[in-house]
This record gives sequence, structure tokens and C-alpha cells, in this order.
Amino acid sequence: MTDTIAAISTAMGESGIGIVRMSGKNSLDIGGKIFKGKIHEDFKDVENRKLTYGHIYNPKDKKIVDEVLIVYMKSPHTYTREDIVEIYCHGGAISVKKILELLLENGARLAEPGEFTKRAFLNGRLDLSQAEAVIDLIRAKTDKSYDVSLEQLEGSLSFKIEEIRNILLEMLAHVEVSIDFPDEDIEEVTYEELENSGNKVLLEIDNLLSTADKGRILRDGLNTVILGKPNVGKSSLLNAILRENRAIVTDVPGTTRDIIEEYVNIDGIPLKIVDTAGIRSTEDLVEKIGVDRAKKVVEGADLVIGVFDASRELSLEDKEIIELLKEKNSIVLLNKTDLPNKYNIEDLKTLIPNKKIILTAIAKDEGIEELEETIKNMFYSGDVEVSDEIMITNIRHKNQLIKAKKNIEEAIEGIKLNVPLDCVEVDIRNCWDNLGEISGDTISEDILDKIFSEFCIGK
Ligand code: GDP
Ligand code: ZN
Repeated sequence: MTDTIAAISTAMGESGIGIVRMSGKNSLDIGGKIFKGKIHEDFKDVENRKLTYGHIYNPKDKKIVDEVLIVYMKSPHTYTREDIVEIYCHGGAISVKKILELLLENGARLAEPGEFTKRAFLNGRLDLSQAEAVIDLIRAKTDKSYDVSLEQLEGSLSFKIEEIRNILLEMLAHVEVSIDFPDEDIEEVTYEELENSGNKVLLEIDNLLSTADKGRILRDGLNTVILGKPNVGKSSLLNAILRENRAIVTDVPGTTRDIIEEYVNIDGIPLKIVDTAGIRSTEDLVEKIGVDRAKKVVEGADLVIGVFDASRELSLEDKEIIELLKEKNSIVLLNKTDLPNKYNIEDLKTLIPNKKIILTAIAKDEGIEELEETIKNMFYSGDVEVSDEIMITNIRHKNQLIKAKKNIEEAIEGIKLNVPLDCVEVDIRNCWDNLGEISGDTISEDILDKIFSEFCIGK
């Protein structure tokens, strides 16, 4: 952490400005080697946190590289708590790249993904859950998932975790007093108090865990698969949903080929429609990849929308699809109801009971609203109000809470059975550690590296 790191912080591509960022104790020195100001010729004379106009030049051949604004931010009141220099240059790929190269030639090292934020964490500016919120904020797919990340960044989760850990700390103090000064009367009181506190901790953990499913969906999107045999209206459905709901398309670089993920926003719920089998190119999932692999795709889905054509007889293929829908969170669409029907909704109901069946005429935009309403109600009974609720959006946090829950349950059980207090102490301490891994108070280097490696470079 002693070296000075640099990276391009803005997205690649054409843009008005680009930002190159540097953090570490040599930032001012390195900046001074490549910057000449109009008023303050020497970079060392610029004022802290004041944007300064000038030129970046190559010290080797004295050639000007770009016209820029530059700012020096003195530690510790910076993002990383280190000295930071930011250079605002012209956008586009070349200027930022040239400036970054100059920084590297003059003593900076290329930053690893998330390294600025990692330093912010290691230097105590953010706790780990806040650092993780930074990347969630950048990747947020809907306003609601953005709000949840922002709350986490502001420290709502950190605060809650600290609250629970403080109860555990009090419990540990009680236990230690009793171990150090054994006295039967004190011990009896201690067991009673410990049980109360333990139950309080358990309740808080359960409350957090109960938000985890919603939270994950908000953060990662609802994994959605549209199933149906050819020509039933899958592409029409996808297009209808996309048309009405602002969509974000992201390319996920895969190993063999790129997978397109479409995000649509259904009243704050990001639906992630993974177009693995090319629903869009009128290929058919079951037909193209076979029933076995279709099963696999369906297995990983949070929601499966099965589409059937009411104007044709129900085929064997339809029945195979119905079987796939039965075990999942699914919604059944009986489409093309504008055409003369070959079978009715009652027949379908007997084949697939307990599932919501919606009559649609997708080509005429009929039934889409009911579908969206159904999706919403399926995942949130009623409206989601994320603002007054702390949500667990991160699977890592969820897993830590599950571990913490197990340990506090064991502690409570031990307390009820009046087992020796030093045994109970172990469980309480483990619970305290488990929660500490959420805030990053107790965490291994490996896990840290893994978390920050998922960040983008320059953040
Ligand atoms: P896919 O193969 O399942 O993706 O089906 P498409 O979305 O490509 O639709 C197949 C054909 O059915 C197209 O000609 C659509 O215009 C038509 N279609 C889709 N939905 C309806 C509907 O509700 N009513 C009618 N009459 N035609 C529809
Ligand atoms: Zn299609």
C-alpha cells in the first residue's frame, strides 16, 4: 500500500471529458513531472482541492499531450485517505491512455480493479459493506436497486450490524464476569439475561435474512426464462415487455460467445432475461437445445413464463413444457386468444393447477399489463418500500448471517440447558466474528482480494 496507483476512471469510448486518477504518497511529485500550469507553473504551488488549468506534457520531448484541468487533494480528506491527483482531460480513448502511460512512466503503478476503494476500506474510510455498495451503485439496474445500494453506502447496514455486535459484546462481558467471579446468584441472573439478549440477536438476524430474497432480486435481477414451442409468441412477448419498460442491455463476455442480458424494469423489479438460446432470433429453446438442457436453464431461473398458443391443439411438446413449469415459480400465458380457440383455459387448468394463467393476445398488446402486475405481486406482496427497510442484497452477507444465526441458536440452546458458560462463550464469539466479516472487521486477505477483484478498474 506504499506505492502510488493510477487508472482511467471514466468509461472508454467517446465522451466530453475523461478522468485519470492517481492515489498515493507520490501523487503530487508525479503530477508535477508532467503538468505545467498557466498561473501556477509548478504543480507543487497549486492549492489543495482547487481545480487548476494547464497542460500535460511529456517530460522527455516536452511535447504537449492535452489541455487539462487538474486537482490535487491532500490526504486524509480524500476517497482513499491518501494524496489524490485527478486529471480532467478530453474524452475519447487516446488522451486518457496517453496521460495514464505518462503517469506510469513517471513512477505510478497501474491500479488493480477496485484498488482505490480497497484503499478506502483499508484506511478506514468505508467499512466493507459500504465498499461493496459502491460497486452495486455503479451496477444498479433500477431506481430501487440504486436506492438500496445508496442506503448501504451511507452505512445503514453497517450501523445495524454494529448494533447487533454490541449486544453480543455485552453478552460476552457478562459471561466473562461470571467466569471470573463465580457466584450462584449472579450465574442465575446471567443465564436469564443471556437468553433474552440471545433472542434479541436472533430476531435481528432473522429480520435481516427475511429481506435477502427480495434484496438479491433487486441487486441481480429476477432471472427470467420465457419458454414455449415455436411460433407461440415468445419473441412478441419479449418485444412487448421491452417496448414498455426501459431496458439496459449489457454484454457479458463469455468464454465461447457473448451472452446478451436484457434488463427490463417492472415497477422497480429488474427482470433479467438471459437470451441464451436466442429467443429473439426466433429459435426455440426446447427445440434447439433439447429438453435436458432446457431443464438446466429452467433450474437456474427465478421465474419461468410459459407461453401456449390457444389457436392450436395442445401438443406433446406443450405438455413437456408444462412439466418444466410445475416445479418452478411460473406464470402461464395462453396466447393468441384473439383467434378462434382450439382449447380453453379450463383444460389448461387441469393440466397445470396452482399456477396463474393469463389470457393474452400479445400481438394486440392484451394481457401484458396483467402479466406485469402478476410478476410484481409474486415477488412483493404489495408494494416494495425499500427506503425504511435495510435489505440484504449481497449473497456474501446472507451467508455470513446464516452462519451467525446458527451460532447464536447454539448459544441460546446452551444457555437454556445451563451448560458451562465458557462453552456458550465460544458460540457467542463465533457469532460476533461472523457478523464482523460483513463489516470487514474480521476478514481474511483472500476474501478481500476476491471482493475487490469484481470491481471495475479506476474505482
Ligand atoms: P415465437 O416463435 O414463440 O417467438 O413466436 P413469435 O413471437 O415470433 O410469433 C409467431 C407469430 O405469431 C408471429 O407472426 C406473431 O405476430 C404472431 N402472434 C404473436 N402473438 C399473437 C397473438 O396474440 N395473436 C395473433 N393473432 N398472433 C400472434
Ligand atoms: Zn421467437
